[in-house]
Amino acid sequence: LITFTTNMEKKEINSVRTPVYRDAGFELSSADITSAAFAAETDHEREPDQYIYSRYRNPTVVSAEEAIMKTEGSQWALLAQSGMAVIDIALSVFQETGKKSRWLFFSEIYGGTLSYISSVLEKRRGIKVDFFTPEGDIYDYDLLAKTIAQIKPDLVYFETISNPLLIVADGRRIIREAQKHGAKVIIDNTFATSLLWKPLDDGADLVIHSATKYLSGHGNLTAGVLCGNDRSLMQKAIEYRKYVGHMLSPDDAYRLQTQLASFELRFTRQCENASRLAAMLQKSPHIEGVLYPGLETHGTHTTALELLGGKGYGAMITFDLAGKTAEEKRARRDRFIAGVYPEIRLIPTLGDFHTILMPGEAVWGTKYHEPGMIRMSVGFEPGEEIESVISRGLK
Ligand code: PLP
Repeated sequence: LITFTTNMEKKEINSVRTPVYRDAGFELSSADITSAAFAAETDHEREPDQYIYSRYRNPTVVSAEEAIMKTEGSQWALLAQSGMAVIDIALSVFQETGKKSRWLFFSEIYGGTLSYISSVLEKRRGIKVDFFTPEGDIYDYDLLAKTIAQIKPDLVYFETISNPLLIVADGRRIIREAQKHGAKVIIDNTFATSLLWKPLDDGADLVIHSATKYLSGHGNLTAGVLCGNDRSLMQKAIEYRKYVGHMLSPDDAYRLQTQLASFELRFTRQCENASRLAAMLQKSPHIEGVLYPGLETHGTHTTALELLGGKGYGAMITFDLAGKTAEEKRARRDRFIAGVYPEIRLIPTLGDFHTILMPGEAVWGTKYHEPGMIRMSVGFEPGEEIESVISRGLK
């Protein structure tokens, strides 16, 4: 039962949802309760009468966090207003003044994270950062072991499925290797989600999701979530989130929780659609190459099968339109984008319930040397519908 107070009396409403509590500050009933509330600020558990101020903690946000803890199987989850905000929280809790830190990042991670590393961590905070780079579309784990043993990083950070090459990392092996040398492990699991792999079960220290993507899944909010099992990390993260004001709004938390109820259904269907589409694209003479971890031709297919246990391979596909010259590839890319419109649109995000696309070269420049590259985020439309739109575009 949800209790609310009118000017006259307390009333109970038989709602099954946590309402959107838009209060900036919450009424504390006495000085003693106020002391207790401030003393418990960094606890995840909270007495209903001990909410203080929405930048610290908000009941609607806590309710959404508890729903995510269930999908993630984690001891705690903290929401913030974007994926970038949780990346900032996750990394900042490991930063200590006077401590010489050395952090190892995989180079194939989200471009925004790479910019954060160079502009914030390196330029502003002076953290020593190293990168581990794949050989084409696979990681050399012997080289990784040597690198970790040599530089002894305090922290190792990677994405389960990279963007846009969709390299699947051997997550368990990386965790083992890092922890052997005392490094903490942070994993951005946005592309795989907890449905395909739960890194905390394999010993990861922190897991990040841009909840803007599959967890909310409707392209209608930005949010990020940080999950873990270590209580002291949680307390540091709660404190940092409070100081920098990275808190998610209760309105977004409410929508995220509602939409999270259909996350497994949506993402299962999206993975199925993507598998089907990848196979279809691979057969097309108009396409030069298809990257999808579910295809046997993908460099990390075997790793994907082992790590994700055949539950799916994600819902992102990257492919290159064929052409004899770069100009011809660009022209075909543009005709393809026009040909699939309006059902499939150029929208620079992913994880939406609609199938959407992005032209690789326009985003990553010449980094991947493929002017005809398209990155597609597959939605949950009926499979035949997407196939027929793609066929029209290819024609
Ligand atoms: N991590 C990954 C893998 C992403 O793709 C993104 C955004 O695209 C982010 C983190 C950042 O998330 P947000 O845009 O919600 O800040």
